[in-house]
Amino acid sequence: MIKDLAKLGKMVKQDGPLKNLVEFETLSEIVFKGDHYPIYSFTIGSKSPDSPTLFITGGVHGIERVGAQLAWSLLKTTLDRLLWDRAHQELFEKIRLVFIPLVNPVGYSKFKRSNGNDVDLMRNSPVVAIDKTHFLLGGQRLSKHLPWYQGEENVIEEENNALYVKFFKTCRESKCVISVDFHSGFGMKDRLWFPFSYTKSPFDNLPEMYSLNRLFEQTHPYHVYRVEPQSKGYLLNGDIWDYFYLKLKEVNPTLIFLPLTLEMGSWIWVRKNPLQIFSKQGMFNPIKEHRLKRTYRRHNLLFDFLLKALYSNSVWSESDSQMRNKLQKMALDKWYE
Ligand SMILES: [Zn+2]
Repeated sequence: MIKDLAKLGKMVKQDGPLKNLVEFETLSEIVFKGDHYPIYSFTIGSKSPDSPTLFITGGVHGIERVGAQLAWSLLKTTLDRLLWDRAHQELFEKIRLVFIPLVNPVGYSKFKRSNGNDVDLMRNSPVVAIDKTHFLLGGQRLSKHLPWYQGEENVIEEENNALYVKFFKTCRESKCVISVDFHSGFGMKDRLWFPFSYTKSPFDNLPEMYSLNRLFEQTHPYHVYRVEPQSKGYLLNGDIWDYFYLKLKEVNPTLIFLPLTLEMGSWIWVRKNPLQIFSKQGMFNPIKEHRLKRTYRRHNLLFDFLLKALYSNSVWSESDSQMRNKLQKMALDKWYE
């Protein structure tokens, strides 16, 4: 995967139609047992600071390899399309798309959930849950030998630091941001989770979340996702997207920001191929080639919808206060008791 991404990066940097459209960067190099593991990003489209932005990340949990592979596949399709599709080229004059397909290259390379320091990057931020979390699963600082270790208090791991710097650089002045972090593992269904993880209380952009979801359901009534607050699954300490959300809102309070987690339900892959429990990739990935390809195809629709929704964001993200109150009430009825 690291080599595949470097290859794409090299292609982008060559003289050609992509050179001015795409910026390829090495955000950081993680050193693990003497080897270097780069974290790459691809920034596509508008350079205007206030442009709407879609921010895609994968491979935060190294063992959930399908997330990084899906990000790579969407990135590859986008670059290939930009070579010939004029509508796509015009779309990206108005919006920005950032890919960090592999946030945790050490974990990915070593078939580990955590990074090289045994830290669960998803639970590594300073945010502390105010509602009750599950023992261990909700994040713990007891020992790095137990799962879901958050790392030392107030130490942000280098992978998250690189992510934070890039995220703020790109989204700080944007007026509308959607991020999607690709994970796999929980349940039979593909879930789209929105904040918060640290509390059961609704987040500030709930009206916009409701409005975007309504538009998605009208446009694609047979879509496959269960859209719900993360707190319906389980609560977390140290959720990195809670942290980014709260921080970004401090500096840009009027921003519309919807941080989403795509949790691909992997139990269906296991049910169809029970022996894969014993494989190295275990519970979290489709092993059979055709199932992996199907996974790539499955999320194209959502990806395309989000790009178009950002381009036309005024349709769902700009409501007066009366309308926002109405949307808030409908969202509370739908998602909260
Ligand atoms: Zn995960």
